[in-house]
Amino acid sequence: MNKIKPYRLVRKNIKKLIPYQAKEIPCKIKLDANESPFPVKLSDFISDINIPLNRYPDPEALALRKALGKKVKLNYKKLIVGNGSDELIYYLIVTFGGPVLYPVPTFAMYKIIAQSVGVEQFESKLDKNFDIKEEEIFKIIKLKKPRLIFLSSPNNPTGNTFSTDKILKIIEFAKKNSSIVVIDEAYQPFSSNRGFLTFLKDYDNLLILRTLSKIGFAGLRVGYLIGDEQFLHEITKVKLPYNLDSITQCIATEALNKFYSQVNKFISQIVKERDRLYRELLKIKGVKVYPSEANFILLQIKNSKEVYKRLINEGILVRELSSTIKNAIRVTVGTKDENDEFLKTLRRILEETL
Ligand code: PMP
Repeated sequence: MNKIKPYRLVRKNIKKLIPYQAKEIPCKIKLDANESPFPVKLSDFISDINIPLNRYPDPEALALRKALGKKVKLNYKKLIVGNGSDELIYYLIVTFGGPVLYPVPTFAMYKIIAQSVGVEQFESKLDKNFDIKEEEIFKIIKLKKPRLIFLSSPNNPTGNTFSTDKILKIIEFAKKNSSIVVIDEAYQPFSSNRGFLTFLKDYDNLLILRTLSKIGFAGLRVGYLIGDEQFLHEITKVKLPYNLDSITQCIATEALNKFYSQVNKFISQIVKERDRLYRELLKIKGVKVYPSEANFILLQIKNSKEVYKRLINEGILVRELSSTIKNAIRVTVGTKDENDEFLKTLRRILEETL
């Protein structure tokens, strides 16, 4: 009998889907995934884990939500947790449906999840400063009535924050059109802007997404969504009951309660290194560097694909983005030594290739 071809059985919208790029490429210096470069060991803040593994985890993740609530100075009822913020993006789209609107280029998962779920997507190109085009967004809101608008600020992969004024106008306009604005603040801890937590009290159609992934705990998979309790209640209807396992809940809670001053020191070091890396990159001929409010920097280099391959040959992994932005490479801020090694290797490669 002929073998079944799974590709022929999948839903139409899945056929065209390109999976999120998350391959492990062996390397000496890993600067491709916007992780923290500082290793964190369990023994840094936990001496003993005593978890009854025969029991299901707390479906409400109360201790973890209380610890997160303390950090953002809000009642824990105003936030829910997900297995990474990716899961919460998924829940948002499953709960509220589409169309979904987001500026581009931006984080790929808004599109991938919308497409998987089968809702319509609308994209608005960022302007030449990588800021949002508010008039175009207004037009799309008015004509297409998107249920959800995703704004990653600081934006991945461009690194800038969008103008606060423009975002506030979009939230107001969205409210009049019954659209929800989700500000994805995955990179907020590295930004000099204040972010949007303070505006939650003014707008019930505003939700804020955050994560522990970029500040040292990418391996734990903890994201959280902050906003109006009634909105969150609707999302809990689709949430898988035990989406965060007991071990993750326990470790993340301890990390927040006992290790956070160290986390803040790491964040300061990353910001300092980012600014140094930016200044050093500015000095390199043939490299266009964009300022960043995040833990990564966007560069444009002629022959970026070739440069990317040569960096890999030297054991340095960055993110190659030329399919989204011409000749672009995104480099995550590493430790001082890693950044120096990256700079030295890049200078050499450019001398050889230009
Ligand atoms: N939002 C943005 C803007 C991101 O860049 C990322 C990670 N690349 C995420 C969300 C997902 O983070 P998490 O690890 O919490 O799923």
